[in-house]
Amino acid sequence: MNQKDKMEAIISLCKRRGFVFQGSEIYGGLAGTYDYGPLGSLLKNNIRDSWIKTFVHDVDNMFLVDAAILMNQRVWQATGHVDSFIDPLVDDVVTKKRYRADHLLEEHGIDANVMTVEEMTAIIQEKGIKSPDGNALGPVRKFNMMLETKVGAMEDSSATSYLRPETAQGIFVNYKNVLDSMSPKLPFGIAQVGKAFRNEITPRDFTFRLREFEQMEIEYFFHPEQPWEAMFDMWLEKQKAWLGSIGVPAETLHAYEHPDTARAFYSKKTVDFEFEFPFGTKELTGLAHRTDYDLGKHAEWSGQKLTYFDEEQKKHVVPHVLEPTVGLDRAFLAVLTSAYREEGEGENARTYLAFPKHVAPALCAVSPLLKNKPELVAKAREVYAMLKQEFGRVMWDDNANIGKRYRRQDEIGTPFCVTIDFETLEGENAGTVTVRMRDDASQKRVAISDLISFLK
Ligand code: ATP
Repeated sequence: MNQKDKMEAIISLCKRRGFVFQGSEIYGGLAGTYDYGPLGSLLKNNIRDSWIKTFVHDVDNMFLVDAAILMNQRVWQATGHVDSFIDPLVDDVVTKKRYRADHLLEEHGIDANVMTVEEMTAIIQEKGIKSPDGNALGPVRKFNMMLETKVGAMEDSSATSYLRPETAQGIFVNYKNVLDSMSPKLPFGIAQVGKAFRNEITPRDFTFRLREFEQMEIEYFFHPEQPWEAMFDMWLEKQKAWLGSIGVPAETLHAYEHPDTARAFYSKKTVDFEFEFPFGTKELTGLAHRTDYDLGKHAEWSGQKLTYFDEEQKKHVVPHVLEPTVGLDRAFLAVLTSAYREEGEGENARTYLAFPKHVAPALCAVSPLLKNKPELVAKAREVYAMLKQEFGRVMWDDNANIGKRYRRQDEIGTPFCVTIDFETLEGENAGTVTVRMRDDASQKRVAISDLISFLK
């Protein structure tokens, strides 16, 4: 199956089985937004929980915050977002459709990373680059990606706010609060999971490039004199190991180190993990050494002291930070595409999602072999209640026949199907059920009394 067909198959599965729907679908949608349905919300939540476990609970000195999406506009003036959080935009002069100039140039093998808009305009003219519809392109312009909004009833500029374009600044503005309330010693980290908004010129590739998305970010503060290289590698490894644990294989990840010329001027080193998405190898995670740029800017603009008192050295220092970041919607898509499998032919054809157990929306489904046999249904309900109490992520499924149920559960990535059949009720196998495994379709009889530990 080619990659384009694979992507289409995944998008259609997502809609059909309740993972992801177009945002505001009944009104024709809103570009760059998607809604997560019942199964997609569970999958996304499991990925988020796994990130919190790995990056917050399993790390010493890591503090989780949940800052407001709306922030004082001075935050974004201080960081430079108001002036320079821009994408280069270019119009098709005939259709008036808008495109990212750097993306169009990239498709022609030209790296526009360090170019000014004037340079991009010149190259487009020199090489006669056309829009995807074959028309001439206008001059390249700067387009600020922040979504502006008004807060309160006053229509003056003091009420201007922005839907945050990144979660990172919600962390930096709380640096002093965390320091004062938790009294951590360096190095320590502050983590945040939450929504971010960017007015992307061309949202595309399903949940890859959205206008409303979720980020999971850490700012890891350390003493400016502390060597950082080993720490940087540790975070890189941790990101890779975590992706592996949610089912994104290491061999589909490619570390990309930003060259000096393309890196933000304040960053000492930036390495992204790019993932082999069906539509190309593209950024999934980032890890940046941001020096003391953000704390420095916020100290300057807020007039607050954002330092750290080093007891040993008896002096105030401004910590530097490493920033590991990942987009939850991109991680979701990477998990889905990594798990997607098609196998068999004709009657034996099946599609399944080989999610790791802790990530799958449901750990298991429970079924009576036949739904018109009250004694099977009663026993199945009993087993269902027991498993549901233990695991929560358990589905009741009595649709169609058992073969179809297995196919339906395969398609949503349920690792186990538990079936209550006539043998469960009497005979030498009384008190046992059939457990059918998603990945190899094998079956095993398991005693109800052993079922919880078996599934664990
Ligand atoms: P890109 O170059 O793809 O636009 P970026 O380098 O601007 O991404 P960052 O600012 O580093 O992205 O954001 C951190 C993470 O947030 C990214 O690694 C990505 O996973 C996620 N992310 C960024 N923009 C989007 C978006 N429009 N939709 C979904 N996720 C996003």
